[in-house]
Amino acid sequence: MIDELLKKENFTQEDLSILLQSGKEDSNKIFTHAAKIKAEQVGKKVYYRGLIEMSNICSKNCYYCGIRKGNQEAKRYDIIDQDILDAAKYAYQSKYGSLVLQAGEISTPKFTKRISRLLKQIKELSNNELGITISLGEQPDEVYQEWFDAGAHRYLLRIESSNPDLYYKIHPRDKKHDFDNRLNCLKSLQRTGYQTGTGVMIGLPFQTYDDLAGDLLFMKNFDIDMCGMGPYIEHEDTPLYQYKHLLKPIDERFRLSLKMIALLRIVMKDINIAAATALQAIDPIGREKAIKVGANVIMPNITPGMYRDSYKLYENKPCTDENASDCTNCLEVRIGITGDEIGYGEWGDSVHFAKRINH
Ligand code: SF4
Repeated sequence: MIDELLKKENFTQEDLSILLQSGKEDSNKIFTHAAKIKAEQVGKKVYYRGLIEMSNICSKNCYYCGIRKGNQEAKRYDIIDQDILDAAKYAYQSKYGSLVLQAGEISTPKFTKRISRLLKQIKELSNNELGITISLGEQPDEVYQEWFDAGAHRYLLRIESSNPDLYYKIHPRDKKHDFDNRLNCLKSLQRTGYQTGTGVMIGLPFQTYDDLAGDLLFMKNFDIDMCGMGPYIEHEDTPLYQYKHLLKPIDERFRLSLKMIALLRIVMKDINIAAATALQAIDPIGREKAIKVGANVIMPNITPGMYRDSYKLYENKPCTDENASDCTNCLEVRIGITGDEIGYGEWGDSVHFAKRINH
């Protein structure tokens, strides 16, 4: 049955739900199929995005997040601009090709201007050579435009769950956490011209296989260019922690995440898919396993070491006590083992995006 299903061109939610529930042998068939599609469509190359978690100050209160505004236990930080620029220089000199600027969600004119300034400075210090992805949450259209004009060309805004019922189980039901606004922001990003990425959490309490199958179809119907998704890892200082007893065992959430990545590669053949850091928090070679089954982007954390421990959206975050170059060295060896090569100095833009805008 699985062989027949995998031959299909268009999958229904039911097909995907069945595939997500497959056992070990069938999962291996899914993984092999996804790896073949990846090699054919985007090649056996992995692109780096040096990740700078510039601040863990956030104005929102997502129920699953360790740096939510309401968590009094979180030690807050905001990296000074010079340290951010030094990290960007490090990414450039290490031929990472691109970086990701990520922070909690702040919407003030001061923050907007600061990001615009940083984007221009990063472009300048890298001779326009570093590609820049930003992940700074929901913002008005004009802010997205200003940052695009300042040099960012990819934006990651995770939907977390495309089922509104589940969305409101993991977010407060209020104006600041409005599902429709999130969708509108994703549309605005596409309109502005960004390579637009989204993603979901896998293994949430209350989440069903049908929800996850729906997430895959959501990404396809939305015509996204990139995806970053990974397992939900509970954080003790969050409201969602009270539902810990509803969770699947962590290794099951991990396997389910690999299946989601593989199925997304099968459903959306030419997009960029990141091997999320959360995979590594569960399995030391979790990201490399994701690369083998369809992912083609990795985000080495280059946040200056002294801040890294404080950017905890979830617990057991890996590499928080190492400096950036330790991370680079260990990654190179691990990626070599997957049989893929690293696209040093390349942007590695989404092939799907190029086709989408020329369509
Ligand atoms: S998930 Fe993002 S927006 Fe929500 S509380 Fe955490 S950092 Fe803020």
